Amino acid sequence: MAGALPLEKLHRAVIFLGPPGAGKGTQAKELARQYGVPHLSTGDMLREHISQGTPLGAQAKPVMQRGELVPDSIILKMVAHRIECPDCTDGFVFDGFPRTVAQAQFLGELLKQHGYKQPVVVHFAIDPALLMRRITGRRMCKVGGEIYNIYERRTKVEGRCDNDGGELEQRPDDREEIVGPRLAAYAAQTAPLVAYYKRLGRLRVVDASKSVGEVTKQVLEIVRGAK
Ligand code: ADP
Ligand code: AMP
Repeated sequence: MAGALPLEKLHRAVIFLGPPGAGKGTQAKELARQYGVPHLSTGDMLREHISQGTPLGAQAKPVMQRGELVPDSIILKMVAHRIECPDCTDGFVFDGFPRTVAQAQFLGELLKQHGYKQPVVVHFAIDPALLMRRITGRRMCKVGGEIYNIYERRTKVEGRCDNDGGELEQRPDDREEIVGPRLAAYAAQTAPLVAYYKRLGRLRVVDASKSVGEVTKQVLEIVRGAK
């Protein structure tokens, strides 16, 4: 879905807000690819720590398995460290961060310190009835992390990634019994960020119930037009 003209440099953070399963990761990968900036998913960073067996991963694993949020102190250190990396100079796309008001306040300071433009915050508004199917149907490539869905976005060869042939797996927290606690954590701790960014005049909304292609169009229009 490349635009007709090359995109200007981003020089800012794009923040995707929305419940688990709303399509943030799918759109973040596409936007990051189009702008040539990193896609920063705190969930992916934590899963990487778990698979590497780091002490941080050991702390996060039981929390994630219960569908709760990992403590702010852990997340903030991880993000502050990540955005120091040289690939972040032209901006980045956050997916799954910030998730609490404390994280949002910290990020605001961090972005100011680094001299980025004001962030663009995109709220993925979605019919909650769609979320269970999107979450329990999600499968991820073990190699490149590409996101599929057994109901909505199938691969050409069952169980294999279209990009690299990698094996697909289901995230342990995408099982039906963990979805309730994850949605509850979103409602209690993350949904207040919608009002937070609205007050700051940064909030834009997409209809995330639409097809992947239609949501991409909405996101691109917002990011291209951002002041
Ligand atoms: P999030 O990062 O918000 O948790 P994902 O991007 O991982 O969400 O998407 C959740 C699931 O829904 C995935 O299986 C993905 O393939 C699928 N999906 C994403 N966007 C759409 C869409 N617009 N329509 C249908 N399915 C979608
Ligand atoms: P995600 O991949 O965004 O769905 O996140 C998966 C899980 O990782 C969440 O349910 C949380 O347990 C944890 N997590 C990811 N990002 C954050 C964050 N910004 N703050 C707290 N916990 C997080």
